[in-house]
Amino acid sequence: MKLITIPLLALTLSAVGVHSDSSRPQITLRSGGVEITQSSSAQIEEKIKACRASLAELVQSNAMCMNHFDAFANHLDQAYSQEGVMTTSDIDQILSAVSFAAEKHKLQVRKNAEKTPYISHPIGVALHLMDIGQVRDVSVIIGALLHDTIEDTETTYSEIETLFGKDVANYVKEVTDDKSLAREQRKRGQIISAAKKSVGAAQIKLADKFYNLTDLFENPPPDWTRERIDQYYQWAKSVVDRLPASNQHLKDAIQDLIHNYWEKQGNPEKSS
Ligand code: ZN
Repeated sequence: MKLITIPLLALTLSAVGVHSDSSRPQITLRSGGVEITQSSSAQIEEKIKACRASLAELVQSNAMCMNHFDAFANHLDQAYSQEGVMTTSDIDQILSAVSFAAEKHKLQVRKNAEKTPYISHPIGVALHLMDIGQVRDVSVIIGALLHDTIEDTETTYSEIETLFGKDVANYVKEVTDDKSLAREQRKRGQIISAAKKSVGAAQIKLADKFYNLTDLFENPPPDWTRERIDQYYQWAKSVVDRLPASNQHLKDAIQDLIHNYWEKQGNPEKSS
């Protein structure tokens, strides 16, 4: 007969809702037994709740923004409490970046018919990085949240450097287009400079392109012709193909998306 032993401590702790990772919750040992002060997981939940509330106010609880935020926050919570790969200070920094970007982009909207608040995009890009790309590098995730702030708002490189550090500021700079150039020149420039991107910036670019291509597929701007969307798909493929190898999950997801797009247009050969 096989004997099964149940670890008593594990049973006791799980019964009171303490995570198995003993380094994470704050437990105060008292003579009368185990007393649990507020666990750090509960602190994370509160920080997420506070960030969510201020975002909801800025975007008037726009459904797409809140859905992206909730999915992103789930990944953060998981990275912290289950995977143990993020610290409380990582989560703090990431949530500050959400609030910073939401404030900076607050007067901007996407080009779709619903005019979704712009912040839906950077949060969605950060979500794709964590979800599809399995990225857990905090600087890359913050870089994604801030990736359009220098290009589209009054934000400066040094402001980002002061608040979030040099790595983040450099990622944002790497994915910022020179707005003084005409649109066609900027688009050509993205193809030419793609090969020189760092691995972190390349991952942000992949998630950004994945977001925009999905958005064009699902919510095309009402004033974009089919030809313009076709051209965007062709251009995005040229950029993605020239990026250094950085994240196969994201690259595969983009290739599938491009393939589906052309198949739907009756031109499957254009995806290769
Ligand atoms: Zn973007």
